[in-house]
Amino acid sequence: MTNTTRFDIVIIGAGPAGLFCAATAGAAGKTVLILEKNSGPGKKLLLSGSGQCNITHDGPVREFLTHYGPHGAFLKPALMNFPNTALIAFFKERGLDMVTTDRGKVFPVTLKSADILRILEKECVSCGVAIHYNEPVREVNHNGGYFSIVTRQALFSGSTLVISTGGVSYPGTGSTGDGYGLASSLGHTIAETAPALSPVIINRYPFRDLAGVSFDSLFFSLWREGKKIGSHQGDLLFTHQGLSGPGILDYSRFIHPGDTIRLSFIGPVRREQFTKEVSEKIAAHPVSHVKTVILYYKVPERLATQLLFLSGIPENLTCAHLTKEKRNILIANMLEFPLTVAKLGGFQEAMVTRGGVSLPEINPKTMESRQVPGLYFAGEVIDIDGDTGGYNLQAAFSTGYLAATSILKQPGPCI
Ligand SMILES: Cc1cc2nc3c(=O)[nH]c(=O)nc-3n(C[C@H](O)[C@H](O)[C@H](O)COP(=O)(O)OP(=O)(O)OC[C@H]3O[C@@H](n4cnc5c(N)ncnc54)[C@H](O)[C@@H]3O)c2cc1C
Repeated sequence: MTNTTRFDIVIIGAGPAGLFCAATAGAAGKTVLILEKNSGPGKKLLLSGSGQCNITHDGPVREFLTHYGPHGAFLKPALMNFPNTALIAFFKERGLDMVTTDRGKVFPVTLKSADILRILEKECVSCGVAIHYNEPVREVNHNGGYFSIVTRQALFSGSTLVISTGGVSYPGTGSTGDGYGLASSLGHTIAETAPALSPVIINRYPFRDLAGVSFDSLFFSLWREGKKIGSHQGDLLFTHQGLSGPGILDYSRFIHPGDTIRLSFIGPVRREQFTKEVSEKIAAHPVSHVKTVILYYKVPERLATQLLFLSGIPENLTCAHLTKEKRNILIANMLEFPLTVAKLGGFQEAMVTRGGVSLPEINPKTMESRQVPGLYFAGEVIDIDGDTGGYNLQAAFSTGYLAATSILKQPGPCI
């Protein structure tokens, strides 16, 4: 490895953040190299939105800031500089329209992630960006204003380096946390990583046979050591081991092992009011089955059967034969069904990574390192994780764009 090939900008990782950064800088005439460890680009992007790619969200970009937990403020300059409308316009100008669901999620009209990736790749190629596949970066060094980037095959150099290696979730896609090691070798701190947007595994889970049953806007509360610490409403899915769906995934950043999640299959109603209402219904319909009272509240039939079983009530019991004690157990189960959290799904199942390159060490107006001039970060490698709904991809594109435009403002020539 005696020969060093020089570029203006070397980008590590061909995910959405790296590709978009490369295309933006390449279009302005910079020589750009992307080094990618996989045999092709955007492996995680292809999986996104179940292969349909929920690329961003509808609505004013200011509202995005509340969708990144406590770290939204960091993203403000990136999102304002390149908002959802600009992302949608970018693809529309290249022949790919977007469609918005009634919940505000934005997808390509073809519902194919591959169409998003094809445009990003084409854009890079037409701007002369060099992409080397099967070339994982092993080591980076910074000396005399230049970065040297070491792979197994070669040595590259550039005055600017962008680390866009993603997080550490879904490691089969190539995001194995390499960027953290590379960033810390250059002096950066890594905020502790953890799985985010994770499904929740439940102890002695009673709804295994109902796996696949989903709920729109289910209300649930979170309890820790006997105290209620929060509540949330969102779409929820019963899995074989516990709970998933956007409502739980988004709220998973607040959930700890040992917590109790109380599901309300009825909504956020007051217990006294609900008890009175159910008692009146039971008294008014003595020959009806108790199950019909549950079904009145639009509870799925299989769940109604299971709630009766878990309340110790025979399925064919009539209202006249329901004791007060069993009635109260049933009401509690309909209103506040308790599930104890065993653990959260690990990195294999989590859609994104919490933690990453520490925010105070990155300038939010440029994405440049505050420690090493010429070093930039983009995408999920940064300590940012968003809710479901397109917020993570928008963050990847916006930070990739901001890094590129900030690099372009640096006085050149680079090499
Ligand atoms: C199943 C699933 C579905 C998702 N769906 C959505 C969705 O619908 N909407 C949404 O907004 N978000 C979604 N996300 C999250 C979103 O895909 C990520 O946040 C986004 O891909 C991050 O982009 P990135 O470019 O930062 O990193 P990545 O997409 O992870 O790309 C990083 C790239 O860097 C490469 N790399 C890593 N280390 C090295 C190295 N040492 N040398 C060279 N290359 C390296 C990797 O191989 C990879 O190609 C989903 C995630 C998952 C797992």
